Amino acid sequence: MEKPTIFKKYELEKLEYNYDALEPYMDAETVKIHHDKHHQTYVDNLNLALEKHPELFKISLEKLLSNTNKIPEDIRAQVINHGGGVINHNLFWKILKPNTKIQKDISLGINQKFSSLEKFKEEFKKTALSQFGSGWAWLVLNKGELEITKTSNQNTPISEGKIPILTIDVWEHSYYLKYQNRRAEYIDNFFNIINWEEVNKRYKEIKKIK
Ligand code: MN
Repeated sequence: MEKPTIFKKYELEKLEYNYDALEPYMDAETVKIHHDKHHQTYVDNLNLALEKHPELFKISLEKLLSNTNKIPEDIRAQVINHGGGVINHNLFWKILKPNTKIQKDISLGINQKFSSLEKFKEEFKKTALSQFGSGWAWLVLNKGELEITKTSNQNTPISEGKIPILTIDVWEHSYYLKYQNRRAEYIDNFFNIINWEEVNKRYKEIKKIK
């Protein structure tokens, strides 16, 4: 008898901090529901989709999403939506941390591209505010150049050949309990909890800065 194919399902990545670590800028209840319920649901639904083509469990999510035309058509939309949901939230939780300071290399890069950190924040906020409905705003590297961009739903810039290093979730589930309709205030407060150490690390890796 043939052995059944063994594959490893996706699991929810654990938070590296307590639910209340981002208070008062992001409240504990929102972090808990957002991570334990919303993010978990994307993981579960991605697994359900991939179970129809279990060989795809062997291919990284980055790779699947970087060439969505290669995803089998019967599960393509689910992988884009739920796989995107998984990978986007994985990055989101990682680039949050209280009390870090902007680091040298990413600071130089931001100043060079946007002229100052304040100008960068202005443009990032404008982009995050202008995302109509659910989606994300991003700081990415596009062919090695810093760029601010946005995506709808759970689409990821990885599908456009860009490498994300910072992101804000602007789905209402990420701010509604505390901020209701005040997305602008949520974005302003987000700037207080960016994990600049992590963003800098990713920037240096991609730019191959020693
Ligand atoms: Mn979310």
